[in-house]
Amino acid sequence: MKINAFCQSCGMPLSTEEIKGTEENGAKNNDYCRYCYQDGAFKNPKMNLDEMKDKVQNKMEKMKLPNYMIQKAVTILPALKRWKSKQI
Ligand SMILES: [Zn+2]
Repeated sequence: MKINAFCQSCGMPLSTEEIKGTEENGAKNNDYCRYCYQDGAFKNPKMNLDEMKDKVQNKMEKMKLPNYMIQKAVTILPALKRWKSKQI
């Protein structure tokens, strides 16, 4: 298993095979989690970086995670593959 694999859309650790997204043919996608990517497409193709930041922040606040962890997760988002190309 690859260490330091994170979903390149939401930053969630891809720690198990089950959490990985799937291609149209059922193969696993190693870049994205199943919450972001299923059957070969993003679940929310129109989502932008700011919306993803809000989503991640809300989700982590609900999980009662400490604020520094939430800030770190949100700061990482622009460097992920899904968002990086859109900022040029
Ligand atoms: Zn994801």
